[in-house]
Amino acid sequence: MNTTALTCTGIEVDFDGFKAVNGVDLELDRGEVHFLIGPNGAGKTTLVDAITGLARYSGSVVKDGTELRGKKVHHIARKGIGRTFQTATVFENLTVAQNLDIAAGSGRSPWALLRRRRHLPDTVVTVMEQIGLKDQAETPAGILAHGQKQWLEIGMLLVGDADVLLLDEPIAGMGAEERETTGRLLHDIAHDRAVAVVEHDMDFMRAFASRVTVLHAGAVLASGSVDEVSNHPRVQEVYLGT
Ligand code: ADP
Repeated sequence: MNTTALTCTGIEVDFDGFKAVNGVDLELDRGEVHFLIGPNGAGKTTLVDAITGLARYSGSVVKDGTELRGKKVHHIARKGIGRTFQTATVFENLTVAQNLDIAAGSGRSPWALLRRRRHLPDTVVTVMEQIGLKDQAETPAGILAHGQKQWLEIGMLLVGDADVLLLDEPIAGMGAEERETTGRLLHDIAHDRAVAVVEHDMDFMRAFASRVTVLHAGAVLASGSVDEVSNHPRVQEVYLGT
């Protein structure tokens, strides 16, 4: 059965009197790939900024019983909330294994990891398999293909024990095969985690969303299955102008 990992209630983000997010309720459940869609300026990024501690808000964000409002970014990350951005932020000069090792928070300085080590932690090996980069363990991240960098960044959240992942357009710039692989990866990692995806690509959303929340002008316009939101009259109005 799915369990709720994150509950947002009445989130409001105010930029000098302009409410970029205006009273959003959102629940992210383990076992689901939850797509956040909506036109440009709908408030998707600002909502994710609020959840991750980058934007001040009123309302409440609770993860596993802990209120996160007012907590610092690193505290929120330590609570298991991980985020990726459209441009992957990996250590380009370090190998795939080293990137994951650092993200695993092994407690050693990054420089110690630059020395050759005999064994990688099990979690790093498991995640490298999961993200399909085991054969690239010794490859510098800087020469990975665009899609592989995105998978590495997701892997860095996984080894860091994030169980709520907020992903910003994870398939931007990917070809058809990479998109398919990414969709399958999202479902794989959502098995025991909550995954939220900010996305513009409607075909990708239809193929891989367990649940969809549509934001418009800072508020939730509709939330439900792909079919439910696609047939929602207000969603058709906003997207198709009908
Ligand atoms: P989306 O991610 O859905 O495209 P955003 O969350 O980026 O939307 O933006 C929502 C609204 O908030 C937009 O009108 C945007 O111009 C505004 N906005 C975003 N960040 C700021 C900011 N730092 N200061 C003022 N307005 C902002």
